[in-house]
Amino acid sequence: MLLAALAGFALSSYVHVNTYFGRLPLGESTMRVHVWAILLMGAAIIIQIRMSQEERRGPKGEWLLRAAPRAVRWLVPALFVFSVANFINLAMTEHALGRGKAPFIDVARSFSSGWMLIFAFAFGAAWSLMRLAGKALPRCPNGHRVDDGDDFCPSCGAKVERAE
Ligand SMILES: [Zn+2]
Repeated sequence: MLLAALAGFALSSYVHVNTYFGRLPLGESTMRVHVWAILLMGAAIIIQIRMSQEERRGPKGEWLLRAAPRAVRWLVPALFVFSVANFINLAMTEHALGRGKAPFIDVARSFSSGWMLIFAFAFGAAWSLMRLAGKALPRCPNGHRVDDGDDFCPSCGAKVERAE
């Protein structure tokens, strides 16, 4: 799933960037990425359900990206905003030209930004699951989650003691 998400992310970024140059590298099969994205979204939702069942005692507000690399945890909300902006833009084009009249390249641009979001999300979810399946995440003495590289807790500043 990690690789599928990574490949999907690469492919949808490729499609997205190409639309700015007026190109549709996948042509008619562009929307097939959509099926792929939906499948991975389903997988990410299943991971979320499994993780919330396993870690019900964990502090609230921790979700399926909690063990993902920090870059992915930043990228996902950024892509969310970006994707929303793209869809607003598409809606405005449709409003100006009439429903369903927007050029396919505009549709592909908006959708590919959404796919980038979904694939980044699914990547983070798969990564989290892999890490959490193997071992407990490092926590500070007060129970806050810390990253592998942290010597002090970002929430309360306590020194992080590591067992290994
Ligand atoms: Zn702490």
